Amino acid sequence: MKMLPSFRYHPDPIRSGSVVKSPGLCRCCGTARGYIYCGPVYSVHELDDALCPWCIADGSAAAKFDALFVDDEALDTEASEEIYDQLCRRTPGYNSWQAEQWPMCCGDATAFLTPVGLTELRRDFPDRESLLLNHILFEMKITRSLALELLESLHREAGPTAYLFECLHCRRPHFNVDQA
Ligand SMILES: [Zn+2]
Ligand SMILES: [Zn+2]
Repeated sequence: MKMLPSFRYHPDPIRSGSVVKSPGLCRCCGTARGYIYCGPVYSVHELDDALCPWCIADGSAAAKFDALFVDDEALDTEASEEIYDQLCRRTPGYNSWQAEQWPMCCGDATAFLTPVGLTELRRDFPDRESLLLNHILFEMKITRSLALELLESLHREAGPTAYLFECLHCRRPHFNVDQA
């Protein structure tokens, strides 16, 4: 089993579903590496399900196709050029129903863990449910009854979906949530 390249801001792209096992050829290096990236690609070229994670990690896909994998609008303007370059050009993005957000914390971009619905949240991240509700109430400014409704309706595949992030420095959980 080949080890995937390591991505600082997206540590487990298999778990998150942005990279899948596939016999397909990579359009950048021309070889079948066993894994294909199926997240968003921002490029004038049609590159859905067409790149291997190694060509994302080393920047060759971004350079060859003038592509971004995370929308530059997703990142706060306070991000440095290095963070922007590593996140948008050398990190697998994630599919979302609405505009991507990539939270910052401690002066750095956070790590994206995985999309979750209520089922995965309660099963795998039970300690984050109340934090997520607070995020919906106070960051998204949604009233309590609608916030509970949104929480109850979260679904990993069908949306609205919650996206879990964690600070690489202070370990604080962060969230992005689709509006219902
Ligand atoms: Zn490749
Ligand atoms: Zn932090």
